[in-house]
Amino acid sequence: MTAGTGPEATAPLVLVVEDELPMRRFLRAALQAHGYRFLEAGTAREGTMLAASHQPDLILMDLGLPDEDGLVLAKRLREWTRTPIIVLSARGREDDKIHALDSGADDYLTKPFGTGELMARIRVALRHRQGSTEEAPVFEVGDIRVDQAMRQVFKNGEEVHLTPTEYKLLIALVKHAGKVLTHDQLLREVWGRAKAAQPLYLRVYMAQLRHKLEADPARPRFLQTEQGVGYRLRI
Ligand code: CA
Repeated sequence: MTAGTGPEATAPLVLVVEDELPMRRFLRAALQAHGYRFLEAGTAREGTMLAASHQPDLILMDLGLPDEDGLVLAKRLREWTRTPIIVLSARGREDDKIHALDSGADDYLTKPFGTGELMARIRVALRHRQGSTEEAPVFEVGDIRVDQAMRQVFKNGEEVHLTPTEYKLLIALVKHAGKVLTHDQLLREVWGRAKAAQPLYLRVYMAQLRHKLEADPARPRFLQTEQGVGYRLRI
């Protein structure tokens, strides 16, 4: 349990809950280099205590903790805090990622990951916490522009016609821009209720959106597939 020194008191405070020392060292160095304040915990119990006593701005959490399943910890934290949680998980554990997102985690990073990816995810999570993306009526990424007030979508300055369902799907992604959404979350947002048997809907509508908005629909820059988990609008 070490408090970071150096960065200004106004810098966002990140709580790292991770039992692997090399990973903790990597996270500490990366956070320090980017001016974040940080706290470290090696167990779920310690993490819970620090989250309660210091109210961090963000929690980075390993799923494999020695004293408790990270999924349980995420769920318990969500009962009393809205602090963004980014889960650190091993490659190939897609079910864990889905469960973590359903348990209230905001995003995940697959180990091993680089500093650039880590910082991008942290920025996205902190921005969502401030709620600025949801309030902005105009969203822009690359050559795509979405005007929610006018319900208009543009690519390279030209209006693109979307069906009501395509538009709803795009808006769901825009509202959570940068964050991964599970198939269930998207089905619920777009069709009202998760229809477990119909992830095919998503594939079809996502393909249509890519066709209308991506320069190369087969290799999308923005409307990205998160293998086995869901989709993400990359920003
Ligand atoms: Ca671990």
